[in-house]
Amino acid sequence: MKSVIDILDLSKEEVQELLDSAMDMIAHPAQYRKVLEGKKLATLFYEPSTRTRLSFEAAMLELGGTVISMADANSSSAAKGETVIDTARVVSNYADIIAMRHFKEGAALAAASKGWIPVINAGDGGHCHPTQTTADLLTIYREKGHFDGLTVGFVGDLKYGRTVHSLINALSRYENIRLVLISPKELALPQYMIDNTIRPAGMEYVETTSLEDSIPQLDIIYMTRIQKERFDDQDEYERLKDSYVLDAAKMQSAKADCIVMHPLPRVNEIAVDVDDDPRACYFKQVLNGKYMRRAMILKLMRDAEEHPDTKELGIATRLKRMPDEQAKRCKCGNPKCITFTEPSTPNIFVTEDGTNYRCAYCETALK
Ligand SMILES: [Zn+2]
Repeated sequence: MKSVIDILDLSKEEVQELLDSAMDMIAHPAQYRKVLEGKKLATLFYEPSTRTRLSFEAAMLELGGTVISMADANSSSAAKGETVIDTARVVSNYADIIAMRHFKEGAALAAASKGWIPVINAGDGGHCHPTQTTADLLTIYREKGHFDGLTVGFVGDLKYGRTVHSLINALSRYENIRLVLISPKELALPQYMIDNTIRPAGMEYVETTSLEDSIPQLDIIYMTRIQKERFDDQDEYERLKDSYVLDAAKMQSAKADCIVMHPLPRVNEIAVDVDDDPRACYFKQVLNGKYMRRAMILKLMRDAEEHPDTKELGIATRLKRMPDEQAKRCKCGNPKCITFTEPSTPNIFVTEDGTNYRCAYCETALK
C-alpha cells in the first residue's frame, strides 16, 4: 500500500507511469468508466479548497467509484479535539482511499503513517500539493511532448510559492532543463532550493527581475500570484506589482510554441487579453489536474489491492529514518507542523546523509 504526500515520493518512472495512464484515459475513456466500481474515496478537507475537492470527486466518479466527503472536517471532528490520525482510522472503516487537505504541514503524512488506507495529500499548509504538480507535468507533457531540454521561466512569488518549489523538484530529474527565475528580490527563490535541488541536479539557472527581457527565450512561462501581504514595504509592492503582469503586448515577443501556465486562481498577473492566445494553457491545467488525480487514485487503489500488507510512505524508500527510540526524545520546533499541535503523532525524523536529520512531516531541520 502506498500513499503520496510529496511529488518526490514518486520515482521518475512512477511519474511517467501516471502520465501514460492519464494519456490512455484521455484516449480510451470508455475503458475506465467502471474500473473502481464499489470503491469509495473520502475527501477530508480541513480548510476550504472547493475546486481541489471537486477535482478529486469528479476524478473518482469518472472511474466508477463513489465519494463520501467531510468538506468541513475542521468544524466536525477537529473541533471536538480528534487527531488527524484518529480521524483517518475512523474513516478507513468507511472508505478505500483518502484525499486530505489540511492547514498544518505534515497532516497528510500523519493520516498515512499507520497505513490503514492510501492517502493522497491534497495540500498540507504551505508544504506540498503533489497533485497540482502532476497537473503541471501532464500539461507540459501534452503540450511539449517531453521535458528534457526545456527553458522554464518561473515568474512572481518564487519565495512562498509551493507550486514553484514542487515543480522545480519534479523537473530536476530530467535532462538539460534551464531555469529562468524572474522575481523581485524580496520574493526570490529560497537559497535551500538552489543548494538542495538545483545545484545537485546540475540544472542551469539564472535569476533576474525582468520579465520582459526574459520572455523571448522561454519555452514555458509559469506565472504566479504576487501577494500584497508578503511585502513589508507597501511602496515596493506598488512599484513592482505591474512589472509581473503578462499581457498580449508582452506575449508578442514570446516564442510561437511557448506555453503559459498558472496554478490559478489568478488575480491580475495574467491579463484577460492573453486568454484567447492559443499558447495560454492555464485552464487546460485544471482539466489535466483531474486526469492526473484519476491516474493517481487508480494507481494507489491497484497497489493497495496487490500489496495490502506492505506500507510504503515515500519517506521510507528514499531516506533513512532515525530509530524510534531516539526519535521519541526529539521534537520538531516548527509551530506549523502537525506534531506541534497533535503531540501524540509519532515523531519521524529522516536523513539523506546519516547526520542532518529533519522532521518528515514538515522538513524542518532538527537542531
Ligand atoms: Zn515538523
